Amino acid sequence: MPPLTIYWSRRDFRLADNPALLAASSYAVEHKTAFLPLFVLEDYMTAGDPAFQFGYPSRWFISEALPQFASQFEQFAIVQGKGAQYLIDLNKKFKLTVFVNDDVYIDFYKQITKLQNAGVTVTVLEDALSVPKETRSGEGNLYSVFTPFKKNVWARFISHKPQPTFTSGTELTYLAEKEIAQFSHLIANDSSAILSAFSKKRLLTIGDTTLDLDELIPEQKITGWYTCEADALKRFSDYLKSGDLDAYKKNRDSLELDVANQDETRIAYTGKTSKMSLALAWGLVSSRTLMQMMQTHFDESFDNPFSTRVSEGALTYISELIWREFYRYQLFHRPDLMDTEFQKKFQGTIQWVGTKTAHARFIAWIKGETGYPIVDAAMKQLAETGWMHNRSRMIVASILTKNFGVDWRWGQEYFRAVLIDLDEASNSGGWQWGASVGADPKPIRIFNAELQAKNYDASGAYQNKWLRSDSTFSLTAPSVPIIEHKLARAEALKRYGLGDEGARDY
Ligand SMILES: Cc1cc2nc3c(=O)[nH]c(=O)nc-3n(C[C@H](O)[C@H](O)[C@H](O)COP(=O)(O)OP(=O)(O)OC[C@H]3O[C@@H](n4cnc5c(N)ncnc54)[C@H](O)[C@@H]3O)c2cc1C
Repeated sequence: MPPLTIYWSRRDFRLADNPALLAASSYAVEHKTAFLPLFVLEDYMTAGDPAFQFGYPSRWFISEALPQFASQFEQFAIVQGKGAQYLIDLNKKFKLTVFVNDDVYIDFYKQITKLQNAGVTVTVLEDALSVPKETRSGEGNLYSVFTPFKKNVWARFISHKPQPTFTSGTELTYLAEKEIAQFSHLIANDSSAILSAFSKKRLLTIGDTTLDLDELIPEQKITGWYTCEADALKRFSDYLKSGDLDAYKKNRDSLELDVANQDETRIAYTGKTSKMSLALAWGLVSSRTLMQMMQTHFDESFDNPFSTRVSEGALTYISELIWREFYRYQLFHRPDLMDTEFQKKFQGTIQWVGTKTAHARFIAWIKGETGYPIVDAAMKQLAETGWMHNRSRMIVASILTKNFGVDWRWGQEYFRAVLIDLDEASNSGGWQWGASVGADPKPIRIFNAELQAKNYDASGAYQNKWLRSDSTFSLTAPSVPIIEHKLARAEALKRYGLGDEGARDY
């Protein structure tokens, strides 16, 4: 059988700092084998099965980004099927050597084991985290609190240099087009062919009920996002040059500043936060590259996280990138965290409200009809654009779980279906944080929507923008909250088994 070296692309649509791509191409040159980058559009993505959420924003993004990535190679195969099984079948026609970047999900490792058991030679490269997955405390334990984790990994995070950018070079020989044409389940390398491979269903299964999002929120219109590595890098470079990163600490929480001059056709290019979450979620850039760009821009290594001589904005930004590492580290070691509370004392002990009440509140929350203007504005921002500011994510998560007594897993599922920057680790971690059941638990925070609006949207610009009358939503939100905050707070404390002093209001 002819040998073939495969770069199995998954969530790493970039040429810069792509360990699996570099390793695969070097191997192919060294061993004089044919080379082929391959992406498997997995059945779980295309089926529209609510158990494996791959919502419309993700479908749209992949259909735009994948062809641009693929067209940078002389040959690139896009196929449909089940990742490991597809490669096992291909291994019957070619003697495969597969290179792939690692991931933090248990399903990924199951696929790798399946490949190995079937005799496929596969090498997994470290990419998903920029710090070692095996990071432990002095006592040899996994970290459960962010600050000591950050202290431990800081030096490694800031000094982890990106690998060189891939170039095809003349010695690399791609698999011939006529051979690729024989592959089963090939998909044309164009946006509409990829988009049409997906089911159009937008379903959400919550407990025993399946909700049809088409009946609850408008069809999401995703505009204003970068869809390739070069544009994502340009956005970050412009963000640095604009001074917004330098001012990140001061401005990152302001909802009113984030919408100032915001243009929906350029959503990713405006606002006071970087809008890098989509690029990181799909691997258009690596956090190592962002780190290096910051070091070059500020001409500073940032080796001291407490230094007062360097940009405070940059230090805070690096901390946020390390939060992302922290959640990935947690999910890698605790694959159950998408379903189970990190803190043992809350596993199965919180009495969420009954199903009927929970459904009514959940639907009001999804539709932006809770009567808390800041929550309704945020939910409309999400439903219309597929993105929501971090401050708003924290507010809506706290209100759903604490004030409405709805299980955090429901909120997590909805976000999985509608976020454009879905990252399962950050999403699950964010929801557990919002419900105060996750890692880094203390104190139990009960957000007061009115106070949050006063602190982060004093002028009301954010609320006015998303509750505007020409919104695709009708303005049916009740004028008073569906549950008054004081009462909701008292009920939340009971639910968490706490006295009046057991939680702090934010
Ligand atoms: C309930 C909830 C759900 C979330 N779901 C996701 C998700 O699915 N995908 C996702 O990428 N982020 C998620 N986050 C984290 C955060 O809200 C987004 O990363 C951020 O809003 C993205 O905007 P930005 O790129 O402009 O962020 P910036 O403020 O510019 O931050 C830079 C980068 O740091 C990382 N980061 C910032 N804040 C956090 C955080 N709190 N946790 C983890 N990483 C962070 C992100 O990679 C982000 O792109 C969630 C937070 C909450 C509270």
